[in-house]
Amino acid sequence: MKVKTTAIVLAAGQGKRMQSDVHKQYLLIQDKPVLFYCLKALEDSFIDEVILVTGRGEEEYCRQEIVERFGLKKISKIVEGGKERYHSVINGIKAIGQCNYLFIHDGARPFLNTGILERTYESAVKNRACVAAMPAKDTIKIADENRFAKETPRRDKLWMVQTPQVFEFELIKDAYNRLEQEEENLHQAGVLITDDAMVVEYFCNVPVKLVEGDYHNMKITTPEDLKIAEAFLNEY
Ligand code: C5P
Repeated sequence: MKVKTTAIVLAAGQGKRMQSDVHKQYLLIQDKPVLFYCLKALEDSFIDEVILVTGRGEEEYCRQEIVERFGLKKISKIVEGGKERYHSVINGIKAIGQCNYLFIHDGARPFLNTGILERTYESAVKNRACVAAMPAKDTIKIADENRFAKETPRRDKLWMVQTPQVFEFELIKDAYNRLEQEEENLHQAGVLITDDAMVVEYFCNVPVKLVEGDYHNMKITTPEDLKIAEAFLNEY
């Protein structure tokens, strides 16, 4: 049977750090919503199916202004996200019937490209779990509760983790099932789940490989990121 690859694209959440009334994934870069660009990259790739996760009440906007307007054919479902990023991922996973490999991608990362998709897919087949990542450029400090520098991890061991994060489907489904069961305990222990690899690290005995992403594969988070994204787009 043919191997099936599915992508969940995350476009829910508030995006508070953008200080804008419009959610960051719908802000325009060169007249198109941020979210359009990664959906287009997936449309033009080997990925078979895309599940789009949006905020409550944004499904219709996405259907009309992104999916229909740009003629995207691979988006099979648009589902509502949840409070935290991992709730949105869980909702996306629940909308999937069968697949072999799952790509989870932030809709706020417009510069997804074929190279990243191919490298992560190859690694997921080999290692079962991988994430796109790039070496940290800045020195990173761990702060204490009064924001004094407490520790400085060796920079040559630090990686900035991006998406896509790619997994065998059964592995990531099991990991998120466990998270749903253990959510309260993790919450009490003060653990903050900010990516998918963390869920596999916590609940599965499978090491997650770091695969070369791309420094262009930035996440639009704060207002200045939009200017950088415009500049990147001019290069293409
Ligand atoms: O908030 P953060 O920058 O980590 O968000 C990363 C991605 O996850 C964004 O594309 C955002 O739309 C998505 N997200 C989501 N549901 C949430 C929070 C974030 O789909 N509750």
